[in-house]
Parts: sequence; structure tokens; C-alpha cells
Amino acid sequence: MAYAYDDQNIFAKILRGEIPNKTVLETDHTLAFEDIQPQAPVHVLVIPKGPYVTYDHFAGEASADEIVDFNRTVAEVCKKMGVTADEGQGCRFISNAGEHGVQEVPHYHLHILGGRRIGRMIPKAD
Ligand code: 5GP
Repeated sequence: MAYAYDDQNIFAKILRGEIPNKTVLETDHTLAFEDIQPQAPVHVLVIPKGPYVTYDHFAGEASADEIVDFNRTVAEVCKKMGVTADEGQGCRFISNAGEHGVQEVPHYHLHILGGRRIGRMIPKAD
């Protein structure tokens, strides 16, 4: 079954300017902004502007331009927030997908969490 994109999701509304956000970086294809309920001192969400639901959807169907732009933006955000693993102390990249991934917002997003030790990669299921 193909992915169906719900354009009423909260990140679609942010992209349309219907809901404000604290932008960290913006490019032609990508937006990075602060998570509204940060789980760490640095908690940035990076999203493509295109209508993709999950990482695999984006990786499978986005154009090369979108994919390169997204990844370069991730690198820029890490530098800007001081959470690279070479000059800073590192971070955790997380992308939740679907029901088992406990994805809340059905627009692909990468969480960048840092500024403290993030802890074990996989906690017990809730
Ligand atoms: P998920 O569980 O889908 O991986 O994560 C969704 C994230 O979006 C959560 O960390 C949540 O705090 C964040 N979020 C939900 N609504 C908003 C919003 O309106 N603005 C911002 N900046 N973040 C949001």
C-alpha cells in the first residue's frame, strides 16, 4: 500500500505558516525548528517541505535535490547547535515511524537531541 499524506497534520500547518515555529534553519526544501516540548537542552526537528510521512517514504520517493538538501541541513543544524561529535559532545538522531515507532505527527521529521547525555538507545516499550 502506498503512503497517504494527511495535509492537516501539524507540521503541514507549520509549513503553510498557519502555526508559528522557532526556526533554526530554512532552505528551499527543508525546515529545522525547535521542538515545542524539548526532551533535552537541544531538541530540533528537521522536516522536508515535501509531503512525506516517514523516513523510508522520504528516502524512497524524494528527489536527489531534496535528499541532499535535507542531509546538509541536518549537518548545519548540528554545527549551529554545537552538538557535532567532533567539536561538541554528540547527539542522538531519532525518527519515529508509524504505530510501532510511536509516531505522533505523520510528516517525516528527524529529531536532533543533545546538550546532555541522552541515555540508552531503546527504553522499554510503553
Ligand atoms: P514524534 O512522536 O511524531 O516523533 O514527534 C513529534 C514531535 O513534535 C514531538 O516531540 C512534539 O513535541 C513535537 N510537536 C508537536 N506539535 C508541535 C508543534 O506544534 N510545534 C512544534 N515545534 N513541535 C511540535
